[in-house]
Amino acid sequence: IQHTSCSLKNLISEAIVLTRPKLKLCMIELQCEYIEDSNILCNEIEIEQVIVNLINNAIDALSELPDKWIDILVTETTQDYIISITDAGISIPIDKQLSIFEPFFTTKNTGEGTGLGLSIVKGILDNHGAKISIDNNNKNTSFVIHFPKLNNKV
Ligand code: ADP
Ligand code: MG
Repeated sequence: IQHTSCSLKNLISEAIVLTRPKLKLCMIELQCEYIEDSNILCNEIEIEQVIVNLINNAIDALSELPDKWIDILVTETTQDYIISITDAGISIPIDKQLSIFEPFFTTKNTGEGTGLGLSIVKGILDNHGAKISIDNNNKNTSFVIHFPKLNNKV
């Protein structure tokens, strides 16, 4: 796999552009806070797909809810860039948190979800030495990616 130095800001903006039509249709407000000079070593198409998948899941989670927002926040530690994608939905119950990363696990109706999105997300992030977790610290749903600044597998 080809890993090149990519701007995390550009990559997330491009993922947002791809989901823009669906966000508009569903009247969801998406806000994003970037770090200006944040470069990661990655396969750009794959990491873009990760962000798109997580935004699409968030959009689906909001379909029946009155509150329609998604927040993307990029922060950093000395070792990692941290990308959190939070939606207005209530947090995912603990007993479901492991199963959702399994291939073919879906709570969506036939034809609406394959249940493959999160397993693909996890596979791609594994290949980059990155980690994904669900954050329970607030009452909403947050998926949090820790992406290593250095030492990621090539
Ligand atoms: P699919 O979207 O096809 O169902 P995924 O692997 O992307 O498959 O997601 C698996 C399941 O995880 C979803 O069916 C849903 O139950 C749960 N899930 C994923 N993202 C969210 C979210 N943002 N809020 C609530 N549940 C979610
Ligand atoms: Mg999905």
